[in-house]
Amino acid sequence: MQATDIVSRIESDIDGDREKILDFFIRMLKINSVNPRMGGPGETERAKFIQTFLASEGFKVSGVDVPDAGYKDGVRPNIFTMIEGKDKSKTLWFLSHMDTVPEGSRELWETDPFDPVVKDGKVFARGAEDNGQSLVSSLFALRELKKLGVDLPFNVGIWGVADEEFGSEHGVKYLLDHGHFKPNDLVVVPDAGTPDGVSVEIAEKNLLWFKVTTKGKQVHASMPTRGKNAHRIGMELALNLDRIFHQKYTKTNDLFDDPFSTFEPTKVEPNVPNINTVPGIDVFYFDCRVLPEYSLDEVLSDVRSEIFSTQNRHNVEIDLEIINREDAGPATQSSSEVARLLEKAIYHITKKNPKFIGIGGQTVGNLFRKDGIPTAVWSTVDDIPHEPNEYSKIDNLISDAKVFAAMPLLAGQASLSQKF
Ligand SMILES: [Zn+2]
Repeated sequence: MQATDIVSRIESDIDGDREKILDFFIRMLKINSVNPRMGGPGETERAKFIQTFLASEGFKVSGVDVPDAGYKDGVRPNIFTMIEGKDKSKTLWFLSHMDTVPEGSRELWETDPFDPVVKDGKVFARGAEDNGQSLVSSLFALRELKKLGVDLPFNVGIWGVADEEFGSEHGVKYLLDHGHFKPNDLVVVPDAGTPDGVSVEIAEKNLLWFKVTTKGKQVHASMPTRGKNAHRIGMELALNLDRIFHQKYTKTNDLFDDPFSTFEPTKVEPNVPNINTVPGIDVFYFDCRVLPEYSLDEVLSDVRSEIFSTQNRHNVEIDLEIINREDAGPATQSSSEVARLLEKAIYHITKKNPKFIGIGGQTVGNLFRKDGIPTAVWSTVDDIPHEPNEYSKIDNLISDAKVFAAMPLLAGQASLSQKF
């Protein structure tokens, strides 16, 4: 049978399993898995539920328990399973997280966030979109591949990980540090997306928030020479930094909606309450989103040298504090195997032309890229994570499952359309 015939078979099988998939999805969403750092019971029960189902389908499920002394069970569960392919040296992984954020204000929910309701082709529940939909679509994609018993070009597997909503210390960060992924693995993180399902995220910007405190000398505004106006020096420094950033970091990258690095002076802290006092302290902040072509070390070295020269020029003390720093890994190439396979599968199943994009925020996809593992972030969602009345469209759940199952089968396939 041609690979494309097998894909047609997969499509009709998954359509036929719609009720079964929906039933599993609803039962899983009933298990509250709010991150324990956010006051919830954690992932343990949900992980057991998924494990039991996979075992009943004949999968051998493995677990990585990550020690967490602050958690009632002492460890946080991360689970995975896979089907072996011809080339056993690499695995196509679909990685979703099992934890959710809390429901927030109950009054804002029209239904019980932990008792899923099906309405208008959608399933309403906390975690339905983020990240339950993709956990279930990838799980049923894998189940379908196993059921068909087709030869796979390489291993294909799924992960359900812990702790994504609270920084991934007990999830992906631990797994990467402990060698659970290989540089030639293909990783799909279906934890963000767009309603039309065409945006494949392959790059993220570096993120830097910093705070600058200038310490001058406070005096009466009628006798400014006796003091040192921290506000004037702070403004001068902020404007100099702004100019340096915009003159130097001029590269562009069309993957991003704002195709350049952004450097914005944002917050300032109140100084003196009255007009006739020269401020002795000035505090300002910058929010920087820097293209992955640049390193934040370079940006920070520019900040430090400008601070140094401002201090010397005015004989004041100026402190720098880094409030938040997330370095971006190198962008995954649109020509990489994982990006090409996803592109082919999306086109084959949905007949839509995918486009590759970069985003200014950050996902766990970035953690993989920092480790040199090409990673694509994709799913079809209305993009309402963490909101009240969160939902997943059942059609998206089913269609994404088909795309995931098609990916390994389209490896090695030549053009499927004029586009490819
Ligand atoms: Zn998520």
